[in-house]
Amino acid sequence: MTVSVCWLRRDLRLSDSPALCAAVDGADDVLVLFVLDDALRRPAGPVRLAFLYRCLRELDDRLGGRLCVRRGDPVDVVPEVARAVDARRVHISADYGPYGRRRDGEVEQALRAGGRELVRTGSPYAVAPGRLATAGGTPFRVFTPFYRAWKEHGWRRPVAEPVGARWALLASDGIPADPDLGGTRLPAAGERAARERLAEFLAGSLTGYAERRDVPGQDTTSRLSPYLKYGCIHPRTVLAELDRATSPRDAEKFRSELAWREFYAEVLAANPASARADLTGALADMAYDPPEGGFEAWKWGRTGFPIVDAGMRQLLAEGWVPNRVRMIEASFVCKDLHVHWTHGARWFLDHLVDGDLASNHHGWQWTAGTGTDAAPYFRVFNPVSQGHRYDPDGTYVRRWIPQLRDVPAAKVHEPWTLPGGPPAGYPAPVVDHATERRESLARYEAARRRG
Ligand code: FAD
Repeated sequence: MTVSVCWLRRDLRLSDSPALCAAVDGADDVLVLFVLDDALRRPAGPVRLAFLYRCLRELDDRLGGRLCVRRGDPVDVVPEVARAVDARRVHISADYGPYGRRRDGEVEQALRAGGRELVRTGSPYAVAPGRLATAGGTPFRVFTPFYRAWKEHGWRRPVAEPVGARWALLASDGIPADPDLGGTRLPAAGERAARERLAEFLAGSLTGYAERRDVPGQDTTSRLSPYLKYGCIHPRTVLAELDRATSPRDAEKFRSELAWREFYAEVLAANPASARADLTGALADMAYDPPEGGFEAWKWGRTGFPIVDAGMRQLLAEGWVPNRVRMIEASFVCKDLHVHWTHGARWFLDHLVDGDLASNHHGWQWTAGTGTDAAPYFRVFNPVSQGHRYDPDGTYVRRWIPQLRDVPAAKVHEPWTLPGGPPAGYPAPVVDHATERRESLARYEAARRRG
């Protein structure tokens, strides 16, 4: 009897998993392994950890209680587990993040030293990073040509869940209890919940997505991001379902959003240092302020700008924020508070259930003017006009800020202009936006002159 190991990381599902299929095809029995790696657990934050543990519990259920969860450094744990079940091969889906890639290289070496093999099949993306290149042979740094090349390249059809697989059993350290969530409500976890969410989205809010995805009060986006993050569903499955959509314009818009995720993974794979620092040197000489009073107010949704505060309160309550509001948050930190994007990005990663290094850090850098496809620096979001434009009747801000419930729509995004000032219990603005906008542009000009 032969056994192989399938080491899952960001692919917590049984269907459309080429790595799992390869493991099943290559041996009589498959041991499904997950390693609780402190290097990834420490920076994850309670919300993401709880969601991960719930996904693992669902997976364990589906495997009849045979998911082997081990604590420790994968470089030690994976070869040890492979030895314990006498597996010649350990199957994975490739990781393209800076840490994951290094870790996998080290695990591969450790396995090889024991005469075993690490086999990579597939990745968490429809098109794996590194597959596409510009006409000059360099990695893409601009989204539109990347998107064209990505669609032209195409992707495989989803593969079915392996039938008749036999899951091997090995002592497990068990799945930890959820950390204290401090009241944050999470979406249902796991593969089934991901499928249900996708079906619900396709049958409902996909129609009108192109028009309404930026309107936070209408809750029209898919909310698939946590499931994509942990691989409860593969983007290829989503793309295949999308082909059946009856509204081509909405389907195309949604496809392009999925491609942003792939684009940022590609950018991170080609520029691993952008996980920690500016991707481009364009603003290397920019003057920033330390994250102090205004930044503290931002973290807890107390800046006095309703759309900014509503987003931060939603982040603390749900671990999720709509894309438009994430952009408004990033602009506020970078251009109203003059704080370097890494501080805001860290807070997001600590609290987002979908927190993903590639999408988060490059989303922040897009606004900060230090990333790919950077928005022109002088395009500073005005939190009041963004509010009026994308939340015209105030539905979104009223949902998260009870003190604004009775404020008329005309004033709901600038409650300090009410005759008596902001309602009791809601703060006055921590900055004057017009002044900080000018300050931001002055710093930008100075940085350009120095640079
Ligand atoms: P939908 O609109 O339904 O889109 C479907 C999927 O496409 C998403 O689940 C996501 O995987 C992908 N997608 C959509 N928009 C983007 C985008 N702009 N960039 C990359 N992928 C996108 N996304 C994360 O998954 N994790 C993060 O940590 C993250 N941090 C962000 C930080 C900032 C400052 C900004 C501006 C964006 C960030 N995003 C991040 C991207 C985007 O905001 C979320 O993916 C999206 O809001 C998730 O909601 P949804 O699943 O309903 O999106």
